[in-house]
Amino acid sequence: MSLIVENAVKMTLIIITTTGLCNLNCSYCGGSLPPSIVPIKETYDLQLLIDFIRKMRADVAFYGGEPLINSNLIMRVMDELGEGRHYIIQTNGTLFENLPLDYWLMFDTILLSIDGREYVNDHYRGKGNYKTVLRTAKLLRSAGYDGDLIARMTLWYLSDVYLDVTHLLNLGIFDHVHWQLNVIWTDRWNFIKWAKDSYLPGIRRLISLWIREMEGGRILGIVPFLGVMKVALFGEWRSPPCGAGKDTFTVLPNGKIIACPIAIDSQWAYVGSLMEHEIRKVEIGEPCTSCEYFRYCGGRCLYAYKERLWGEEGFKEVCYVTKETIKSILDVEGEVRKLIEEGRVDKEGLYYPPYDNTTEVIP
Ligand code: SF4
Ligand code: SF4
Repeated sequence: MSLIVENAVKMTLIIITTTGLCNLNCSYCGGSLPPSIVPIKETYDLQLLIDFIRKMRADVAFYGGEPLINSNLIMRVMDELGEGRHYIIQTNGTLFENLPLDYWLMFDTILLSIDGREYVNDHYRGKGNYKTVLRTAKLLRSAGYDGDLIARMTLWYLSDVYLDVTHLLNLGIFDHVHWQLNVIWTDRWNFIKWAKDSYLPGIRRLISLWIREMEGGRILGIVPFLGVMKVALFGEWRSPPCGAGKDTFTVLPNGKIIACPIAIDSQWAYVGSLMEHEIRKVEIGEPCTSCEYFRYCGGRCLYAYKERLWGEEGFKEVCYVTKETIKSILDVEGEVRKLIEEGRVDKEGLYYPPYDNTTEVIP
């Protein structure tokens, strides 16, 4: 199946990888990408990128590596395109000074990587990182940033989803908290034991808190809960939930266009280039399309679906945890509907994400 760029009508999201370089070396990630695959800066003519984004009528997200290492490209893109679309950035939050404040304030969504409590975060992301990221968050708020500030977490063996998510929410700085599970980024670890002993009980506890707060009229910005409830209440869903390969595409610094920003060297993910006028779509098939949770899960992650880096057994472990998570959220659907009917919760407040802001919804 192909998507004729000239005829694109629906709003898509173009993720621009500004550089393959990163100034950190987090333990679940590995830092900079090989420059032979993801160059340190763009090698294409900027006008090709601008034309592509305009033709796609796309929102724009900046990504890396660490995108602020090549902030020059961010500024040039924003200068060229101006207003009229959503701008999003996923950053590790350590290079605040690389971008002038005017540009920061143009973002509709800023995702700062932070993994929860200080010792957990710094264990994964490096000593002192927690304080640096919070400094950036506070600088943004004190400068008047009123867009969506999202704490973007990775959960791994030291993480306690209840304690780490509530910690970030209680800081009172972030509008939303979103997380991804470290499943496949590193070698296989005892994920299923951690999930059964800690993560799934923590999810249920967090859902109870979410409902209690809603009873008082406050919607906690917990993205995976909101995303699943959005499908239940509004019937809107897509596969995969991040849109990768369907209506979200990534432009690498060498002008290649790929389905998912991390699938930098996977043949299946290559869908075109800035020089072409047509890009291919990539889709999720079985076993997901027959799965009873497909409508909510959407196949979770195109990259994990295609690569199966933890093998079939690992894929099934993640599915088990995904299904349990979705079930736990749907268990409170009736309560949420009742709160809406009673006028205690604004239904529109549960419409999240309101546009593709790079939160993948399903952890
Ligand atoms: S739970 Fe697993 S099988 Fe079901 S849709 Fe999600 S990824 Fe696919
Ligand atoms: S959820 Fe998976 S497919 Fe989607 S952007 Fe992330 S890694 Fe890529």
